[in-house]
Amino acid sequence: MHVHHAEMMISAVSPKQYPAPDVPEVALAGRSNVGKSSFINRMIDRKGLARTSSQPGKTQTLNFYDINQEFRFVDVPGYGYARVSKSQRVQFEQMVRQYVLQRENLELLFLLMDFRHEPTALDKQMKDLAEEADIPYAIILTKVDKVKRNQWNRHFQLYEKALDLPTVDALFPFSSVTGEGKEDIWEVIEAYVFD
Ligand code: GDP
Repeated sequence: MHVHHAEMMISAVSPKQYPAPDVPEVALAGRSNVGKSSFINRMIDRKGLARTSSQPGKTQTLNFYDINQEFRFVDVPGYGYARVSKSQRVQFEQMVRQYVLQRENLELLFLLMDFRHEPTALDKQMKDLAEEADIPYAIILTKVDKVKRNQWNRHFQLYEKALDLPTVDALFPFSSVTGEGKEDIWEVIEAYVFD
């Protein structure tokens, strides 16, 4: 897909701030620092559109990115970040649940998880939420450039088992450094968003 227009629309915390639900949305969920901003920037080849950071926990908002006025990426930071109070966490969790469970134009969920490590409790929680919402989802395994090729199978199997997946088909390796996986993931977007 040729991206000729990409723009950050709004950082929202409540449904009344969401843009009109007039184009499909692809949401990216995952804990902070997993590589969501880098994913967006690499997928659309714009270096600085989504703000990346080596410091975890920077945003607790839903960030809407317009792509070609055809669809949107929505950065949904994973809840469970430790350095906030319990009440803030509950509020944040509700914001994420509300978006995923109620957004009518949410067509596809990408669950981003760090390929180097086992899935976390939060990763499992996000997968359960996708199933509860009955939204198609794919698991994007980030930072694969950091894992040696001869270890890939072991990591795939670990994910398959820990997430109780029937096959490895839902797992998509990705690197924002090398661009690995980008074309396959565009195919998934095109299949679900422009069907
Ligand atoms: P976010 O908090 O989920 O938006 O994560 P960022 O996109 O800000 O990335 C967090 C950190 O991980 C940054 O230092 C990125 O440079 C790094 N990072 C993200 N994706 C990759 C990747 O595919 N490979 C490597 N080696 N580093 C990555």
